[in-house]
Amino acid sequence: MELLKKMKTTKEAKPVANKIKIGHVHLSGCTGDLVSIADNYLGFIKILDDYADLVYGLTLVDVRHIPEMDVALVEGSVCIEDRESVEEIRETRKKSKMVVALGSCACYGNITRFCRGGQHNQPQHESFLPIGDLIDVDVYIPGCPPSPELIRNVTIMAYLLLQGNEDQKVLADKYLKPLMALAKRGTTGSFGDLMYDVINQGLCIACGICAASCPVRAITLEFGKPQGQRDLCIKCGSCYGACPRSFFNFDVIPEFEAISELIADVLK
Ligand code: SF4
Ligand code: SF4
Repeated sequence: MELLKKMKTTKEAKPVANKIKIGHVHLSGCTGDLVSIADNYLGFIKILDDYADLVYGLTLVDVRHIPEMDVALVEGSVCIEDRESVEEIRETRKKSKMVVALGSCACYGNITRFCRGGQHNQPQHESFLPIGDLIDVDVYIPGCPPSPELIRNVTIMAYLLLQGNEDQKVLADKYLKPLMALAKRGTTGSFGDLMYDVINQGLCIACGICAASCPVRAITLEFGKPQGQRDLCIKCGSCYGACPRSFFNFDVIPEFEAISELIADVLK
């Protein structure tokens, strides 16, 4: 509760002039991640009212070239046979303070890992890479699609990191730490990662969160052990990200109640 008191911000304490600039960069994605942003409903409008200007995003904003951004939310992987996509992701890195891989295609390639080319009318478009294979990425938001709440929380924490007081910066840094660690960990995501890095390491506690988080129901728990159907797995990495034995943020989880109240307060 002490933390909440310290973090509490009033409308007057965050004048509109301090808004951060965010953008949505659309590469080889399906726009589902953008729908997830919009699925914050009035929370999204509130963020745009008080905390962030949407300065780029071809679906919503009539700006044709990538501007300077505080936070770039990048959706989709990169087709490396498409010169414009490769230039776009490089340009995004150059012009953004924080690059966020939004959704599993940007983080891990996801379904585009299965692309093999040979289709009309660009049969040469056959190789798709997660953005972390081309540029440095600061934060991952995995999920196919990622949850609206996680996108909302990351946007609020990015605001606090860039515009908050010292206490807020410390909190935002702690909150974002595991998502930054995911970005450092690599660009592969599949049931195999869960198998190698959690289950085979003897870390699994049979909580079933991996099965609940799998969008294609490729995981079942049998005799207390997760079993993956690899021919169903779309390589989204959600199970590894959601597993409490992959990253458990001891700095933040005990403050869960205070952080939830802070976020609710921010969205009032
Ligand atoms: S098992 Fe499911 S959650 Fe895990 S990577 Fe595959 S599709 Fe994603
Ligand atoms: S989420 Fe992690 S700890 Fe829980 S059952 Fe799956 S592998 Fe085990």
